[in-house]
Amino acid sequence: MNGNWRDNIRRVAPYVPGEQTMSPRAVKLNTNENPYPPAPEVLQVIRESNDEGLRKYPDPDCRQLIHALADYHGVKPSQVFVGVGSDDVLAMAFMTFFCGSQPVLFPDISYAFYEVWAEMLRIPYRKQPLDDGFRLKKEDYFQKNGGIVFPNPNAPTGLLEPVSAIEEIVAANPESVVIIDEAYIDFGGESVLSLVDKYDNLLVTRTYSKSRSLAGMRIGYAIGQEELISSMLDVRNSYNSYTMNQTALAAGTAALADESYFRETLSKIIRTREDAKERMRKLGFSAPVGGESFSNFLFLAHESVPAGLIFQKLREREIFVRYFNKPRIDNYLRITIGTPEQMEILYDNLREILKETEV
Ligand SMILES: *Cc1c(COP(=O)(O)O)cnc(C)c1O
Repeated sequence: MNGNWRDNIRRVAPYVPGEQTMSPRAVKLNTNENPYPPAPEVLQVIRESNDEGLRKYPDPDCRQLIHALADYHGVKPSQVFVGVGSDDVLAMAFMTFFCGSQPVLFPDISYAFYEVWAEMLRIPYRKQPLDDGFRLKKEDYFQKNGGIVFPNPNAPTGLLEPVSAIEEIVAANPESVVIIDEAYIDFGGESVLSLVDKYDNLLVTRTYSKSRSLAGMRIGYAIGQEELISSMLDVRNSYNSYTMNQTALAAGTAALADESYFRETLSKIIRTREDAKERMRKLGFSAPVGGESFSNFLFLAHESVPAGLIFQKLREREIFVRYFNKPRIDNYLRITIGTPEQMEILYDNLREILKETEV
């Protein structure tokens, strides 16, 4: 029987995250997780989460975490919004700011979730093609629009745009909110947070998932001028007052306290990344002609072996990387930077795979 209720279902094509293998043997380089554990203080706080903390509702205003983030970034608490990973923060921002009739603009090669949210929320949008080197063309964003969003560094390319180019885009669009998704900015890029005081239409989003080793805890945040943040809070509080659980609030606060652990972890990853660029080049891989990665992953094509084949062969060996079977990028692999030991396993296996596939 086909009931009419089926006509009333919201039909959506969901975002598909990278495979979360449970195999203990796997070398997991496919979802840009941090290979190092969170700061010891974070683990301590999680262990100490007690009856009081769990029995009661968490603070709906997330004051502890918001104050810690405001202090950390030198902004006012009223300029900070927190959510369940930056995915939640970005979805709230889409709901709050992208309600006009003009299309929202984002790059054709970018974080795939933007298109999924636009579709689900019925927001008109237009994908602006990156140039042949996968660089953003800022002129593409100097036209009438209902909002702008892109990551910097971009994902999955890892390429970084200078603050000056982003400022031009923000300044050229006083009638739209411009969201800069800085999920990977800690890995060597220059943030546009310094522009927040100057532009009332700029929202910057960040996540604890990559640079702070807390993907499993789900913490993200946004910083912007007070009016942007209070509009997001109105939307959030019309939907769910308690998005952030007590343990996440405490862990997120504790993570900010240990700056030296954070810096040390970042510099290890950056060192491994720079070494990986060289090692992968020697294996016949190259980055887009537009530049090199400033993130915790590399985006690379091989000179002779198709990316889809390398992806499959690595997967058979329980080495997981990311492959997007999409126009323009279907010959690239996105490889998360792991520990030096994990990277050695990757190089060894790639060497074998390339040998057996080359004729
Ligand atoms: C990983 C990622 C996010 C989402 O991260 P959360 O785990 O939800 O905080 C957002 N944007 C980009 C570009 C990402 O790569």
